[in-house]
Amino acid sequence: MSEQVDAVVIGAGVVGLACAHELSRRLDSVLVIEREVGPGREISSRNSGVIHAGIYYPKDSLKTRMCIEGNRLLYAWCEAHEVPHKHTGKLIVATSAEDERRLQTIARHAKDVGAGELRLLTRSEAMEQEPELRCAVALHSPTSGVVDVHELIASLVHEIKEADGMVVYHTTVDEIRKCQNGWLVRTTDTTGSQMELEARRVINAAGLSALDVAAKSGLPEAERPWRLYPCKGSYFALGAGAPPTRNSLIYPLPEGGGLGVHITADISGARRAGPDAEFVDTIDYSVDESRLERFADAVARYLPAIRPEHLTPDYSGIRPKLVGPGGGFADFVIANPSSQPGIVHLIGIESPGLTAALAIGARVSDVIA
Ligand SMILES: Cc1cc2nc3c(=O)[nH]c(=O)nc-3n(C[C@H](O)[C@H](O)[C@H](O)COP(=O)(O)OP(=O)(O)OC[C@H]3O[C@@H](n4cnc5c(N)ncnc54)[C@H](O)[C@@H]3O)c2cc1C
Repeated sequence: MSEQVDAVVIGAGVVGLACAHELSRRLDSVLVIEREVGPGREISSRNSGVIHAGIYYPKDSLKTRMCIEGNRLLYAWCEAHEVPHKHTGKLIVATSAEDERRLQTIARHAKDVGAGELRLLTRSEAMEQEPELRCAVALHSPTSGVVDVHELIASLVHEIKEADGMVVYHTTVDEIRKCQNGWLVRTTDTTGSQMELEARRVINAAGLSALDVAAKSGLPEAERPWRLYPCKGSYFALGAGAPPTRNSLIYPLPEGGGLGVHITADISGARRAGPDAEFVDTIDYSVDESRLERFADAVARYLPAIRPEHLTPDYSGIRPKLVGPGGGFADFVIANPSSQPGIVHLIGIESPGLTAALAIGARVSDVIA
């Protein structure tokens, strides 16, 4: 006889943990299963740590709705659970006439979707905020900020346990099969020992492996029309000699599948440039030093005093993109297939997934609990 739980969440990234937290408030027994040694070891700890406003995505998309709602929930969570965060605001800068037209369109769109009280700044207003900046105009987003992702993840794990939920590490979900009372989840831990447990509900929050897990759950190919295109984003650290910045978040206009090589400062004040966007075939987190000149050029468009010697390779993350190069917009997928009652698959949860996590958790719970 296998153990029985109300819900299994596969993956202890920020999205899986947010789902588990919300479910553990509504259900008696919630178990998170994670293959790594601890929580948040994949996409969730390899990002910019930015709390986004929801500026760029189509109006009725899940990305817009989950990001705007997630932004509000995340600030409230950080306040309530003493997670270090900063309400920095962000500047998006246009450096050419063409950029300026695009920025005007972005500003109108952001207003239309309700992404906060954004304001267009003239060149001199922008330079008052950031004297080293070169731009034609800039858009100021007041609701953007930064969060300490590791502390956020720790607070979610803590709250799940407080609500009698469990998180197990070193354990991989190998197979999910239909059974009489829900789903039979088969796992293997790092010692090779196998286990089966029965779950009424299963949430697939496996990030870059979410499509593999969907296949392992027996979801017919016709009901999983998605393909993932891993897209690497590398970061370079800005050294002490780099030109000073006051507002910690400076973004160019989005390009090439990412938000453009931007400058962020984390909670400790450490500044980075990145991420770029490079479609890859393998998961390799090393940062290619030969990209340094390209990074310096990208940043120099809006921060002309930057030099290659100000930059050193830092870390990288990989986005689970649902479209390849030049593929346009793809929304988050929150799929609850009719052939799989009780299962939710979360596919393509790239940026702004960190910001949106708590809203996604609430939505998944509404669908399934
Ligand atoms: C370069 C980059 C920059 C980003 N910047 C931002 C940003 O500034 N702001 C923002 O809002 N968003 C940002 N994002 C997006 C955000 O980081 C992600 O959307 C979010 O972290 C995804 O979390 P997740 O829980 O879905 O995935 P993950 O954190 O990857 O979690 C999935 C977990 O599932 C586990 N797993 C997989 N398969 C199995 C299995 N079979 N059994 C058990 N466990 C399994 C993995 O080990 C992993 O820990 C960025 C992403 C990238 C790559």
